[in-house]
Amino acid sequence: MELYNLGIEEARTAIDSGEISPVDLINAVFDRIDTVEEKVRSYITLTRGAALEQARLAEENRSGAKHALLGIPVAVKDNICTESVTTTCSSKILKNFIPPYDSTVIQRLKQQSYILPGKTNLDEFAMGSSTENSAFGRTRNPWDLERVPGGSSGGSAAAVAANECMAALGSDTGGSIRQPAAFCGVVGMKPTYGRISRYGLVAFASSFDQIGPITKNVKDSAILLNVISGHDIYDSTSADVAVPDFVSVLGRDIKGLKVGVPKEYFIEGVDREVDASVKEAIKKLESLGAIPVEISLPHTEYAVAAYYILATSEASSNLARYDGVRYGLRVTGDDLVDMYMKTREEGFGAEVKRRIILGTYSLSSGYYDAYYRKAQQVRTLIKQDFEKAFETVDVIATPTTPTPAFNAGEKTEDPLQMYLSDIFTISVNLAGVPGISVPCGFTSGNLPVGLQIIGKHFDEESVLKTAYAYEQATEWHKRKAEL
Ligand code: GLN
Repeated sequence: MELYNLGIEEARTAIDSGEISPVDLINAVFDRIDTVEEKVRSYITLTRGAALEQARLAEENRSGAKHALLGIPVAVKDNICTESVTTTCSSKILKNFIPPYDSTVIQRLKQQSYILPGKTNLDEFAMGSSTENSAFGRTRNPWDLERVPGGSSGGSAAAVAANECMAALGSDTGGSIRQPAAFCGVVGMKPTYGRISRYGLVAFASSFDQIGPITKNVKDSAILLNVISGHDIYDSTSADVAVPDFVSVLGRDIKGLKVGVPKEYFIEGVDREVDASVKEAIKKLESLGAIPVEISLPHTEYAVAAYYILATSEASSNLARYDGVRYGLRVTGDDLVDMYMKTREEGFGAEVKRRIILGTYSLSSGYYDAYYRKAQQVRTLIKQDFEKAFETVDVIATPTTPTPAFNAGEKTEDPLQMYLSDIFTISVNLAGVPGISVPCGFTSGNLPVGLQIIGKHFDEESVLKTAYAYEQATEWHKRKAEL
């Protein structure tokens, strides 16, 4: 097998046994990037020189260190701060922003001797579902270059699917890890809100944002989660709860596990082949001993509306900091206000502006009660839907997305259509619970389909255990996109 095809665990085994060196591995990854990146365009920045240097260091430390990611290239979404490496958020406003510090997740990856091959493309400030809202051009879906890779972590998902890295980090505010993972046929995990520090993740909607792994298989997801999870004094919303060993639960059987199947997720409008693949996947879980139980999450239909009020409100506040004074771009003006206006006019793209306007409107004094407060109340109802469901089931299984990857340009003119592509992932962020997307089939057009498994707060173990059992009983994750 070509080295670039390896996942984390396989690469680690090969390095430990002396079969390959970290330098062999990073060279294989950059050769692959040189071959396919022109087509896929996963990366905004490549850190070739530093990566080679890190690989040489890893090679020297090989015998001694027992670091979980020694010599393993992990790509990072470009809204996660990396010291001395530009972090653009795919925005003109941060085009030249070089963070003076590492985010907490990057510090933890460094402690485990990972290698950064580069920073990946995203929708500007993680706002979008197709990676088309990037100031630096769109990323292509490795399974069909005319189609989108999903978003907003489309660069990370495409880089993993195109084998331009062993694994990647993404961020998920309303589906941005799981939806692109589903579109690209890889594994994407959004952990419980609070499981992972957001320190150094450029804020979009702070009460939703979570960082998580995008990987070639479930075990690699657990390995990365082990590294990046845990309380952090620099993020007051990170939870001070024990972090279990996520790898140790893999392989436990799922006999008697109750799998909730919410009727609101199997509705008209869902692509026929997606629906069929997911139902087949639930049967597979049943054949492994799980017990499907029909459940209802009655407020599902309000999730997209509530999310787009709350997330835009938080975004309008978070993005106030880009004023031409503190970070990045400044366009000079006649006076201070003129400078602010010109900088933001020039620096932000259309979708970001739309959201700032929407959010500012919802938060304005005359409309606050009708929109923002109402949406918060709906959020509570959605959270309660999950709490109630989890009184009777252990996990919930749904499609990750209503359709497979759509064509580039298909939804750019109609923001509402674009927003609806997150219809099955958004409730999970509103409730703050963990969710994973694993490959569960392909359409007749050879496009990947994702199965979403959702768990209780801080019960990533059940999610991972179920996903692993399913993956080990199927072959979908072994298919590779031809490039
Ligand atoms: N697509 C959703 C949005 O545009 C979710 C994005 C995300 O999870 N970052 O807001």
